[in-house]
Amino acid sequence: MTTDETSAPATPTAGGPGDAATPAPTPSKRVLLAAPRGYCAGVDRAVVAVEKALEHHGPPVYVRKQIVHNKHVVETLERRGAIFVDDTDEVPEGELVIFSAHGVAPDVHERAAERGLRTIDATCPLVTKVHKEAVRFAADDHDILLIGHAGHEEVEGTAGEAPEHIQLVDGPDQADHVAVRDPAKVVWLSQTTLSVDETMATVARLRTRFPLLQDPPSDDICYATQNRQVAVKKIAPQSDLVVVVGSSNSSNSVRLVEVALEHGARRAHRVDNAGELDAAWLDGVTTVGLTSGASVPEILVREVLIWLAERGYGDVEEVVTAEEDLLFSLPKELRRDLKAARTARTAREEQEAAATTA
Ligand code: SF4
Repeated sequence: MTTDETSAPATPTAGGPGDAATPAPTPSKRVLLAAPRGYCAGVDRAVVAVEKALEHHGPPVYVRKQIVHNKHVVETLERRGAIFVDDTDEVPEGELVIFSAHGVAPDVHERAAERGLRTIDATCPLVTKVHKEAVRFAADDHDILLIGHAGHEEVEGTAGEAPEHIQLVDGPDQADHVAVRDPAKVVWLSQTTLSVDETMATVARLRTRFPLLQDPPSDDICYATQNRQVAVKKIAPQSDLVVVVGSSNSSNSVRLVEVALEHGARRAHRVDNAGELDAAWLDGVTTVGLTSGASVPEILVREVLIWLAERGYGDVEEVVTAEEDLLFSLPKELRRDLKAARTARTAREEQEAAATTA
């Protein structure tokens, strides 16, 4: 960790003997608000998919796993009639189930079909891209080294695309223990929400063992993860304390805390919401850096800003390192259902209009 470079008070100029008793000016408290932060396109799409499914089909709508890794989002959808389950076996036959943004392995689709479940796949298109890469390299008989966190749903989904070809590499230390069949046919892929720096360290270790290791065709760590890490790197060196809003099971939120500490924040804490903040963290703090993970609604950041303003940190400067305007269309099953409903409504209205005129 480096020391804070900008929040230290400026040394007052000595004006003469009489100045000895003049108190040093108090540095003004402020918040540096990272941008981009919060919702990414994949999370927005997945949450809207559940909302629209609830509106269109009515509750209950089952969701396999947390639709996105955020406690507030999950609780809000539960209140509206979503039922979160660990696996499709818990969904009554014939019911509707939505697959989360993190993606699922092909056998999950198969089991759902066997049980006659109706499905909506809200897997983020950027996760689907990694699935397709895995399928393609497996078809070409490559050994695939999947860099990611053991047990994470996204990793389980990707690995399930080609289990006989994929090995998980969970951090640089595991790189030393990987064995491959042919060192000339090895490629690395990754979970979308990793630390860019740590992933590159893992790749470098792998490449010392397998010099012909191929890179993914395009970045697997997604634009949103990368942009949020770049933004927190910008504010961290100026921050005595960085607060990251995000849930404990949100990989990209947890990474933001690590990145903040690695890039100069004196302290960093992750909180689910303003209720978890501790006033003791503000002791001696002039500058608070604030950001949020890709599954966090902005309302939770606003509540942290209010909490900080009540404690003298009302001066907020947004530090923008990128603009984001990516949007994904809704899952195809939902678009089909909504289109069919629109068509039926129009036909009904036309019939009613014709009956009135007749
Ligand atoms: Fe998609 Fe990236 Fe958002 Fe995950 S963090 S849902 S991969 S855009």
